[in-house]
Amino acid sequence: MHEMAIVDSLFKIINAKVKEHQIKKVVKVKLKVGEMTAVEPMTLTACFEVYAQNTVVEGAELVIERIPLQGKCRECANVFRVYNYNFQCPQCESRSIETVAGRELYIENLEVEE
Ligand SMILES: [Zn+2]
Repeated sequence: MHEMAIVDSLFKIINAKVKEHQIKKVVKVKLKVGEMTAVEPMTLTACFEVYAQNTVVEGAELVIERIPLQGKCRECANVFRVYNYNFQCPQCESRSIETVAGRELYIENLEVEE
């Protein structure tokens, strides 16, 4: 499962931080997740809870901030929201589009008790 692999790598980062800063409890985990990652928030949360069991992360709130897919036209530099993966500039109809937002997947913030 896609989400399981993502949570696995997230926990590697979290655990490294927990160890480094001797964190006793993680209260909140804030994630930025781009639309392109095709992550299902419900599934991600469920996997997160499984991984959090019996760790300092258990009971922490997972906040997922979704980032919409945005493209930038290479022809006219127009920046626009991409719907349904339709990479075409609404202004000049060019299909030469660069993705400028929507691929993100990272921990923005950890709220902890030390
Ligand atoms: Zn254009």
